[in-house]
Amino acid sequence: MDAGTSLRFLPGVGPARAAALAEAGLHDVWDLLHALPRCLGPPPPLVESGAIPAATAVRLRARVLSARPVFGGGRGRGMGLEALLERADGYALKARFFNAGYLRRHLLPGEWYLWEGRSDAEKAAVLLHPSFVHLKQGADEQPPAEAACRVAYRAVAGVSERTLVALVDAALEGTLDHLADPAGSDDVGHRRALLTLHRPESAAAYEEARRALAARELLALAWRMQARRSAQVGMPGRAWRWDDAIHARALARLPFALTAGQAEALAALRTDLRAAQPMYRLLQGDVGSGKTALALLASLAVIADGAQALWCAPTAVLASQHHAFAARCLVGTRVRTGLLTGGTPAAERAQLLSDLAARRLDLLIGTHALLGEAVEAAELGLVVIDEQHKFGVAQRAALVNRAAQHQGWAPDLLLLTATPIPRTLALTAFGDLEVARIAGRPPGRSAVATALFRAAGATQLAAPLRAAIAAGGQAYVICPLREDASEAGDDDVAPVADATSVTRALAKTCPELAIGLLHGALPEREKLALMAEFAAGQLHVLVATSVIEVGIDVAGATLIAVLDAERFGLAQLHQLRGRVGRGTMPGRCLLCHRATEAPERLQILLASDDGLAIATADLAARGPGALLGTAQHGALALRCADLVRDLDLLQDAHAEARRRTAAGEAMPPGLARLLTGGSGLLAGG
Ligand code: ADP
Ligand code: MG
Repeated sequence: MDAGTSLRFLPGVGPARAAALAEAGLHDVWDLLHALPRCLGPPPPLVESGAIPAATAVRLRARVLSARPVFGGGRGRGMGLEALLERADGYALKARFFNAGYLRRHLLPGEWYLWEGRSDAEKAAVLLHPSFVHLKQGADEQPPAEAACRVAYRAVAGVSERTLVALVDAALEGTLDHLADPAGSDDVGHRRALLTLHRPESAAAYEEARRALAARELLALAWRMQARRSAQVGMPGRAWRWDDAIHARALARLPFALTAGQAEALAALRTDLRAAQPMYRLLQGDVGSGKTALALLASLAVIADGAQALWCAPTAVLASQHHAFAARCLVGTRVRTGLLTGGTPAAERAQLLSDLAARRLDLLIGTHALLGEAVEAAELGLVVIDEQHKFGVAQRAALVNRAAQHQGWAPDLLLLTATPIPRTLALTAFGDLEVARIAGRPPGRSAVATALFRAAGATQLAAPLRAAIAAGGQAYVICPLREDASEAGDDDVAPVADATSVTRALAKTCPELAIGLLHGALPEREKLALMAEFAAGQLHVLVATSVIEVGIDVAGATLIAVLDAERFGLAQLHQLRGRVGRGTMPGRCLLCHRATEAPERLQILLASDDGLAIATADLAARGPGALLGTAQHGALALRCADLVRDLDLLQDAHAEARRRTAAGEAMPPGLARLLTGGSGLLAGG
């Protein structure tokens, strides 16, 4: 038997069991050995004399005196069962089962059993729903020997835990001595770790072994990222001539001076773009920190040197906003810009694409969806992807690789994100990227005053809306839903605020206000027209779904009210409130809730304006998917590493992967296999 032996050939495995195991992702001995159990710790103590303490897990031998059904079993419904027990020293206690009258026939009065369970919190002499094993030899039968530390395997449908344990034993016995270390080292650390994980002597030993295996798993993760990056940078890039003259000319196009934070981040971009290695950089800056201006400066440097730039934005509204900003800055220059969205007529679209291919266009700005397709530039120098977490990793690689193949050198890549990325996540999901941060915000911006506000619907918002508009501002009202999802017709009774009903109700309550309704399902032309009207101050209030979450920039907006705020993630709410207070007037954010008690979770938004602290709280509460979107968090399904506890290992792994990739080493196949998770029993634990 070796690691590649099919489980079909293990003793006791017939076709049915083999199929059940395969269903759970267990095909061969390697899978079985790497399907790690959880550690349960030592078995509870055997209490053979003296009273049992309350609320404690124990084992003991006792005989059944009687067993009788009880109604409710102490839990309100169903038929329970209560057994009177007696230990050899005469100590009397009870075992209580819930909804388990059927157990009665297994509890034979006068017979001895080994019991294991937790004693009641108040009544120490009551075991709650204990497990039991019949001791056929009676009072003298010794309890079976216990492992010093127990483990639990994830259940495999159709295979009992006993069978699974026996199979693992056979696999350990048969193959462990000649199992190769996936990391390619020839020491026995990996084998020893596997043995310990399956059959630990203590919880501490288990943890040490888990870390050893986690280190290999994280090395695999880091290596794959390195490989992905090298594939991208396998081709040389271009060293752009971004000299002081070009720099000064580009800066002069902006209507403002850069903040210190922007200047610092820009210096990093400039260094990257002047180097021959292609840039692969994530620019992170809180909402409103001014990332777009840096993207424009980088683009101008590349364009000044004769190449073209492509920007991908998540929505048409944002693409056109970016385009308007770029066009405004570039008035009077020879730089030719274009805008390509889903609403662009076919003829114009074809024209734009052929202009790009023929170098009649310098900067093309469009939506992710469009630019992910076959777009070909004559010479693509820079790709900017805004709100990159909405753009698939594969899509991004395809875009860059296509250009690289076509032109023989790789374009530079600049990713923008307002999602503050906690360090753990940055290293995991973006370990292959250099990260630059824009610290601080443009001058004159104060933190958005944030308050909790009890409001079930639109009517309660009338007063704050009127006040904001009387003061010369404009307002957003954000709803979790687009349309009424319930049967209820009455607006204020709808269980979750929806933009359509809220707009209707607001129009009735505040007929003097000009109100617009914006949601994702509107035709793009209407969305753009609405945003333009709002930006021009022709609308007082824009009721919207979270489509406006990313990047919308309207200087006149001073109030944002989020209905049913607890339905949104913290990082998302932070992004939303970043939509106001972007001009000279201070911003205000109302987090609306219906219940008398405001949801606890929202407190952090009142206390903090630090996007990173908020994102870290969100990460802890809701996991990486909530921050990154599903596009990336699929990569985070780990077998036994824990991103928070094993951060140090992750850092080491990145260093080792970098070193070994640089030395020309390919990822050992055993390491790659660690990443094809799914059979990790810990995961389901
Ligand atoms: P984000 O980083 O959220 O994408 P934007 O690039 O949209 O932010 O910038 C937010 C607003 O701040 C825009 O109106 C932009 O023109 C303005 N802005 C950017 N940098 C500066 C600056 N240095 N001084 C003044 N205003 C700035
Ligand atoms: Mg932006």
